[in-house]
Amino acid sequence: MHFKYVVVGAGLAGLTIAERIASEKGEKVLVVEKRGHIGGNVYDSYNDDGILIHNYGPHIFHTNDREVYKYLSRFTKWNDFWHRVLTMVDGNPIPMPITLETINKLYHCSMTPDEMKQFIAERAVPIEEIKTSRDVALSKVGEEIYQKFFESYTKKQWGIDPAEIDTSVISRIPLRFNRDTRYFTDKYQGMPRYGYTKMCESMADSDKIKLLLNTDFEEIRDDITYDTLIYTGPADEYFHYKHGKLKYRSVGFVFETHDCESYQDAPVVNYPNDYDYTRITEFKKMTWQENKKTTILKEFPGEGDEPYYPFPTPDCKAQFALYQEEMKKEKNVYFLGRLAEYRYYNMDAAVRRALDLYEEKLR
Ligand code: FAD
Ligand code: UDP
Repeated sequence: MHFKYVVVGAGLAGLTIAERIASEKGEKVLVVEKRGHIGGNVYDSYNDDGILIHNYGPHIFHTNDREVYKYLSRFTKWNDFWHRVLTMVDGNPIPMPITLETINKLYHCSMTPDEMKQFIAERAVPIEEIKTSRDVALSKVGEEIYQKFFESYTKKQWGIDPAEIDTSVISRIPLRFNRDTRYFTDKYQGMPRYGYTKMCESMADSDKIKLLLNTDFEEIRDDITYDTLIYTGPADEYFHYKHGKLKYRSVGFVFETHDCESYQDAPVVNYPNDYDYTRITEFKKMTWQENKKTTILKEFPGEGDEPYYPFPTPDCKAQFALYQEEMKKEKNVYFLGRLAEYRYYNMDAAVRRALDLYEEKLR
């Protein structure tokens, strides 16, 4: 069977491109998705107790990209939400990222912003060339804070030492000399009012978009032809692993429902130094849902089958570069999104990439 446009993957990247093709170009598009639902990793659903959970880990939308925010606002209203995270250090819940509040709470003192600057400057390790995530943290906050907040968490999350990890990973966490304890400071932040799945359903709501769920592209690859393919699955899979399997970090998600209204004091509590999980999310604290019970999620990073995080090491980047060379040889195939581009994209970046691809190549 022949199709003009085929999109592999119904995550945010795939849905954005499909929506553009259908509504802007007015063309039909086939979206092939191997899971039984759309939305990719932003998928959310109601559990047996009627609580809205994020099935693939906590998702908080935040961006400085007004165009992306406006684009997604066509498909959802937003509940204003500023994400806050506590991290359990020395048995105490302490605000994360590192701010004046963190330092004051950690050292039981009441420094001013200037005192904190001096305090940090005395401890920051001078590193000439910042090459790894360890360098980033040590040069910003020094040995003690690095060990308490970053070292073990990062080892747990990635299974390797921060000294082996690209600078971009720990650089995601800011250092602030003020009392702003928000996890993100982007201009636009929020939660889709009726959930991410509803937002995604609205994006796919067109008679020009044909969704084929529960279908691995590999199963139908030889049975279909197309003028243009937009592929958002894992890069190595597309090329049948000819340059070896790319490493992606997986996570085991364990949900628990507790018979109490509130479980913890913040939407997310990190456990850098204890337990095998990295963090606990309590969904009601993100959605403001009312329910006598509450559902939490513990994340156990590991090497499972489901690829969630592209692996941030120089070796993996080099291996991916081999696949990038293969991509250049493909005709009328575009590789898009977190898995295909092997990039640690947030939601807004995945949508931005799709909007740009549409404008630059498909319009
Ligand atoms: P995906 O969502 O991975 O979609 C790819 C789709 O392709 C999937 O549905 C997959 O099933 C399908 N697929 C793969 N292979 C095939 C195949 N062979 N055939 C058919 N279908 C296939 N971002 C934020 O902005 N804020 C957050 O708070 C945040 N939290 C996160 C927490 C976790 C635990 C994770 C893992 C990610 C988080 N993200 C967050 C990132 C966010 O999930 C991604 O930016 C976004 O989902 C990327 O969309 P995508 O379409 O590129 O990829
Ligand atoms: N990180 C850390 N301690 C924390 C939180 C994060 O060391 O308490 C590091 C860790 O390496 C993590 C990275 O910072 O992978 C990025 O954190 P973020 O919260 O952005 O991770 P995500 O939500 O993408 O899993």
